[in-house]
Amino acid sequence: PSPLGPTPKLVIDLERLQQLPKDKAGPLARYAATIQSQRGDYNGKVLFIRQEDLRSLAVIYDKSPTELTEELIGWGVLDPEARRAVESF
Ligand code: C2E
Ligand code: C2E
Ligand code: C2E
Repeated sequence: PSPLGPTPKLVIDLERLQQLPKDKAGPLARYAATIQSQRGDYNGKVLFIRQEDLRSLAVIYDKSPTELTEELIGWGVLDPEARRAVESF
């Protein structure tokens, strides 16, 4: 176990996501909408996603999971804490 505590969860800020230009955020927005739909979860301001889903998104964006995480933190969609979730990949 990490001295910093348990692995943080990956949390997507859905309100921030909606403010971003579609050419950047489109694939992530569609992915998040699909997860919300599968869960029947439509009201959330945030969406907890699986680590496995970040791997899939990295393939979609043609980046490594680490690179994609940095980009999403830069957009304000992921919390900087997410870096620690990706370290364990
Ligand atoms: P599933 O993967 O067979 O999961 C069935 C149910 O198990 C989920 O229904 C949920 O109630 C519970 N569950 C699964 N994983 C977790 C978890 O990590 N934490 C908690 N608290 N509960 C969990 P739900 O939410 O209605 O999702 C239905 C189906 O939608 C899931 O079936 C899965 O196929 C898909 N899905 C939902 N969320 C995600 C996601 O974040 N990523 C992916 N790849 N698929 C998802
Ligand atoms: P969480 O519910 O606190 O689950 C934390 C971690 O415990 C998950 O990380 C996964 O590694 C493990 N886990 C929890 N429930 C199950 C399960 O039924 N089967 C298996 N094999 N592992 C389980 P993960 O996958 O990275 O998910 C992170 C968070 O994403 C979850 O935190 C939950 O908030 C959300 N999530 C993931 N899948 C679903 C889903 O299908 N439905 C819902 N409602 N939430 C989900
Ligand atoms: P469930 O919650 O209905 O989840 C059904 C199946 O969805 C899980 O079968 C797993 O294949 C997938 N799944 C669910 N949540 C996750 C997740 O967070 N990440 C990933 N990658 N896959 C997920 P599984 O693993 O055989 O689990 C059977 C049942 O055992 C689950 O039914 C749940 O009730 C319980 N369970 C398993 N692992 C955990 C866990 O870590 N925490 C909790 N609270 N329950 C768990």
